[in-house]
Amino acid sequence: MISSNNSLLAQKTYAVFSSTSTHGTLVQLCHNLMEQQKLQWPQLAEGYAALESVRIREIVCSNYTVSVQFNPNRIRSTGADLNPKAIQERNCFLCLEHLPEPQKGILYRDEFLLLCNPVPIFARHLTFSSIHHIPQELESSLSILLDLSRDLSPDFTVFYNGPKSGASAPDHLHFQMSPRRALPIECDAVDMRRRKRLYYKDHVAGCVLMNYGRTAFVVESTNKLRLLEFLKNILEVWKTVLGSTEEPKMNILCSYQEDLWRLIILPRRKHRPDIYFLEGDDRVLISPAAVDLGGLVVTPLEKDFLRADAKLIESIFAEVTEPPELIEKILEKLQ
Ligand SMILES: [Zn+2]
Repeated sequence: MISSNNSLLAQKTYAVFSSTSTHGTLVQLCHNLMEQQKLQWPQLAEGYAALESVRIREIVCSNYTVSVQFNPNRIRSTGADLNPKAIQERNCFLCLEHLPEPQKGILYRDEFLLLCNPVPIFARHLTFSSIHHIPQELESSLSILLDLSRDLSPDFTVFYNGPKSGASAPDHLHFQMSPRRALPIECDAVDMRRRKRLYYKDHVAGCVLMNYGRTAFVVESTNKLRLLEFLKNILEVWKTVLGSTEEPKMNILCSYQEDLWRLIILPRRKHRPDIYFLEGDDRVLISPAAVDLGGLVVTPLEKDFLRADAKLIESIFAEVTEPPELIEKILEKLQ
């Protein structure tokens, strides 16, 4: 069994990135992988061709702006049935044995494969998937999230969708990558006029963005160990505040530049807004995850693309995210 898995992994490995590889190598490998896969894998070439013709609208909300992207190919992900039974019965699309024949990836530190996303939202959209079928879970993968962000800097931002906060494979550990600053929130998060400092201790700083329509908790540090410790403590206290043993619902965007890690944590109250479950024309197919809450709202249906306005976006954001007081409460308990 092990040897057949190894041979499958070898078959699926386009290149290897290990802990001894030099910085800059991974970004170059990603670039090479995309070029190779566009030539070898027709579905990917079609996905990128379709991306050229997506329509984009800007919507000015109160104190922030979002882009809405009409991307019909995203219907499978946005409309995915994420009930445990449906998940259990489908073939996991991230497992090695179910990857399309031409799909290959970069083997990262022996544990993950970096793959091209065949239904891209961005000009460079990759998925970072465990080579094992293990559940989407943050705590045990925080260290790898920080390593990956550093190894992909300065070109990419890594994002995480919690198992009940937008991940379309809640049963298979994965992250995704977008080009750095492709999302409006990444620029808003460094705008000092928006920031309210809430925490500074042991080389870790935390702030929230003011009047932002959703809670964005920005955590920064140059020290990996201290940052990991802080994030683990936050998760523990957060669970206590919610009175639950489950991983708190959230989306995360993580990037690294000039020796500094920056995580934008978006605490979630709900997976999908009520309007998602309405019948007929009233239904709006927006299923918010890191990308959408980051300010690029994806609509697979044209009617939703045309209908979206500030009022709709503001109400969806408010409905699915936690209020900023939650962060203040967690930090109070932490200190
Ligand atoms: Zn799987």
